[in-house]
Amino acid sequence: MAPLYSFVIPVLDEIANLEELATRLADVMTALGGECEVILVDDGSTDGSFEMMQEIHARDPRIKAIRLSRNFGHQLAITAGLEHARGRAVIIMDADLQDPPEIALELAEKWREGFDVVYAVREARDGESRIKRQTAKWFYRLMGRLGEVDIPPDAGDFRLVDRRALDSVLAMPEHHRYLRGLFAWVGYDQTGVHYHRAARHAGSTKFPLRKMLGFAADGIVSFSMAPLRIALSLGFLVSFASIFLGVLAVVLKLTGLYAAPGWASLVVGVSLLGGIQLVVLGVIGEYVARIHEEVKRRPLFLVRDAVGLDQESAAVVADHSYRDGLA
Ligand code: UDP
Ligand code: MG
Repeated sequence: MAPLYSFVIPVLDEIANLEELATRLADVMTALGGECEVILVDDGSTDGSFEMMQEIHARDPRIKAIRLSRNFGHQLAITAGLEHARGRAVIIMDADLQDPPEIALELAEKWREGFDVVYAVREARDGESRIKRQTAKWFYRLMGRLGEVDIPPDAGDFRLVDRRALDSVLAMPEHHRYLRGLFAWVGYDQTGVHYHRAARHAGSTKFPLRKMLGFAADGIVSFSMAPLRIALSLGFLVSFASIFLGVLAVVLKLTGLYAAPGWASLVVGVSLLGGIQLVVLGVIGEYVARIHEEVKRRPLFLVRDAVGLDQESAAVVADHSYRDGLA
């Protein structure tokens, strides 16, 4: 019997949050009514989170766990969970309780009204640095300008998705996954629910600036050609400017106004061009690097262990039993 609701929760070193998460989820599952499952995805934790998940599963078999073979990153950890979820409605949320599990009740309400994707929109953000809030704001604005699909601003991955939207996203094999963009791309009926994003329950953020920048680049490059087009426009602009300068030089010479030849303008012109060319090459490189990643066709993630999942959905775990009994 497939459950009605699945929760998919990526976990990287969240041992201090798991107990509280399990307790609050248990209440939410009772309130939801239908049969529920929770899939915790351990994305290469080193703090014993997975052992804790096994304990939790022993107490409450609705809470299941997958362990990836190493850290694959937030988006791929979510993808791994989504592939194992069997619910008709699947709720994605973080493990640090910044996304209050109780909001799932409101998301489910909208789902029952007929929506396929119900994303949670952040109204306030507690406990996040000003820099993070400000850069997030700029990023959503930029994405709104450049993006080729309308991705709702201020909505993260916290959302409920219906089976048909989920299956469409799972059919997309891309490696650099910007899930909120992929779910927007799918279409159908989508709506948002506003919520107050809480501060982390315990622990610290697993998203340092470097990871955030990489994630932002994935979002833009996966959903916009604008950077390439800007490069092209820049090329045209500089070319026209140089033609104009050339004509101007001839005119000045012919009219006798031409003074001593200036090396400064030459140096500035050459270095400006050099700079622009490098920037443009870098932009193209961003796209080429992603093409390279995709053509390698590596699997998105590897599953090391699965707890509580039935044979069929856990079939991806490599059989390692030939090592049993070796000293
Ligand atoms: N996470 C993960 N893999 C990573 C980074 C983060 O599974 O490589 C998980 C993390 O445990 C948390 C969620 O993704 O449940 C969101 O991460 P975090 O709270 O650190 O991000 P922030 O809320 O600070 O943006
Ligand atoms: Mg968080």
